[in-house]
Amino acid sequence: ARLANQIAAGEVVERPASVVKELVENSLDAGATRIEIDIDKGGSRTIRIRDNGKGIPKDELQLALSRHATSKIATLDDLEAIASLGFRGEALASISSVSRLTLTSRTAAQEEAWAAYAEGREMEVTLKPAAHPVGTTLEVLDLFFNTPARRKFLRTEKTEFGHIDELLKRIALSRFDVTINVRHNGKTIRQYRAAQTQLQQERRLAAVCGSAFLNHALAVELEHGDLKLSGWICSPQGARAQNDIQYCYVNGRMMKDKLINHAIRQAYEGTLSGEQYAAYVLYIEVDPHQVDVNVHPAKHEVRFHQARLVHDFICQGLQSALQQSLA
Ligand code: ADP
Ligand code: MG
Repeated sequence: ARLANQIAAGEVVERPASVVKELVENSLDAGATRIEIDIDKGGSRTIRIRDNGKGIPKDELQLALSRHATSKIATLDDLEAIASLGFRGEALASISSVSRLTLTSRTAAQEEAWAAYAEGREMEVTLKPAAHPVGTTLEVLDLFFNTPARRKFLRTEKTEFGHIDELLKRIALSRFDVTINVRHNGKTIRQYRAAQTQLQQERRLAAVCGSAFLNHALAVELEHGDLKLSGWICSPQGARAQNDIQYCYVNGRMMKDKLINHAIRQAYEGTLSGEQYAAYVLYIEVDPHQVDVNVHPAKHEVRFHQARLVHDFICQGLQSALQQSLA
């Protein structure tokens, strides 16, 4: 039942990376072109995310934090309880119920910024004037400090930061137009610069996937009716060493889908080298009416209405690109 609840809730605050995901998605929703991420101790001490998005008006700060400001949340100590509240649309309220969260924001229309935080059993929101450029900073301190059972489930700093890093790689590959800088314990770990030109995009690809991937990458760009496939696929020679690099997006959303995986594998296997490994960063664009993305939000699966067609398009397209690289 617990697992079913989690899946039904769509998202839960499982670990620091889940918090980062919600906050960065909010920043992207707010039109940010620059996102600064500061993490301390794998996110268990600090998660601070600053963006240059449109900001939150002063009179909406309270609402943003207190959608689910019930006394129940303040005493919450198990996963089931938070999952049952539902998470979508209540990310900030949920996160603030299991951490010390401060929301600081300024809109272009305001002369000054305001900081908001929720306190106590009733989660009453306090507002104070603050200094901040247009945009928003979310600071999440001491995640799970009031839910010891869940704090205990956190892994080492390194492991938790690893989850955050992996999440941000996925986001960096889905939004080349946004600058994302990441620090851990005060040290710059990643600098993903906004990229427009092909050269800048390749630089970013190398920053996320490593220069070895870039060296073996074949750019693909294919079209068939309303179906589009673009991105990079690793040459068969490099695939084995780069096997952990498997990113696939459908209409901008990261997917781990069996049908797509199968099509890609078959493309590699069909080449002269009969390669068993695959590495790729691929973007599939399809008419939104031709696909259901909500089949399984937690599992990142999709359902294409014309599954066979999509499968063969991917498989044949990639296979000929791979074949050419061997010729
Ligand atoms: P949801 O994103 O599903 O609406 P959240 O709890 O994540 O719910 O956020 C609540 C609201 O707070 C958002 O709808 C948005 O209006 C505002 N908000 C949150 N983060 C930001 C941000 N970084 N920039 C601007 N507005 C934000
Ligand atoms: Mg949100």
